[in-house]
Amino acid sequence: MICDNLKRIQKNIDIATERSGRSADSVQLVAVSKRQGLEKIRKAISCGQQIFGENYMQEARQKITSLDQNLCWHFIGYLQSNKCRVAVELFDVIETVDRLKIARILARHAAELQKDIRILIQVNIGREKQKHGILPEDAENLIKSIHRETNLQAAGLMGMPPWSKEPEASRDYFGKLRKLSEQLADKGLFPNDNNIELSMGMSADYTIAIEEGATLVRVGTALFGHRD
Ligand SMILES: *Cc1c(COP(=O)(O)O)cnc(C)c1O
Repeated sequence: MICDNLKRIQKNIDIATERSGRSADSVQLVAVSKRQGLEKIRKAISCGQQIFGENYMQEARQKITSLDQNLCWHFIGYLQSNKCRVAVELFDVIETVDRLKIARILARHAAELQKDIRILIQVNIGREKQKHGILPEDAENLIKSIHRETNLQAAGLMGMPPWSKEPEASRDYFGKLRKLSEQLADKGLFPNDNNIELSMGMSADYTIAIEEGATLVRVGTALFGHRD
């Protein structure tokens, strides 16, 4: 079942990239495995999936240590300062950095652990009170300050549009996030200019996100089914 889902999602990704004149390998699937059992994750690995996303540190630690393979783990949950060290230990990419305080703590631990960590800046594209993420107009200063931190590489942006039962409602927000990333890239704010990550789109709207420029789509239920 999971392998069929994976094939279908990969196919949809291929169609969406082709439709928007992008190469198929310009988009990577982050399999969001939060609140999904180890067996399902093993299944996904057995049919080729290597990038996974987790939201909760304790749960992630159990999974990552017991899978113990050459996988790539993205942290996509809310990051508290007292969880930063574990985050650096466990994860390859931290997608949810939205304030300098957290970036500095991550950098300190990364230096201590002699690890380079890729981060994305989480942007509150819908300007929602209840959502995390930095406001779009403040992203530039945050990234500039992060440049001064060692062991930390700002690789792009991550965002979540306001919830809607209509996937098309996400399109404008995705477009806004892409434009912001282009403006920041024009100012030379990302070290790797020709590969700026844009993490946007989930089960309901990942093909729309790809049409609007996503390089990472975070898909959970469409791959693994409903969460526990
Ligand atoms: C849970 C989660 C997802 C996956 O959501 P689905 O609708 O199950 O695809 C993606 N991104 C973030 C940040 C999440 O917390």
